[in-house]
Amino acid sequence: MASYEKLKSDMSVCDGERVGGYPFPCHGQLYRCLACGAVGCRQTKDHACSKQGFDVSFKCYGCGVAGQYEAVASGHVQSKSAACSPERIANAD
Ligand SMILES: [Zn+2]
Ligand SMILES: [Zn+2]
Repeated sequence: MASYEKLKSDMSVCDGERVGGYPFPCHGQLYRCLACGAVGCRQTKDHACSKQGFDVSFKCYGCGVAGQYEAVASGHVQSKSAACSPERIANAD
């Protein structure tokens, strides 16, 4: 397996919020629409994530084209010591 550690700073998983009261981010695989360039995760239900980009049939939420997608390169490597994120997100909502 190739190492993609250089990509670890790239956002390749969805950081949207799950609808339904889940206390953790979506972390779904992100896909990019080849037609309009929109990036988002795919959910089996409509609007299951605040950043959902595709529905179950890979239809783009942005432009409505189905099947024109590519997976955003995932450099997400399971790390045992990645407990804390250095970024401080002010969730003052
Ligand atoms: Zn998502
Ligand atoms: Zn699109």
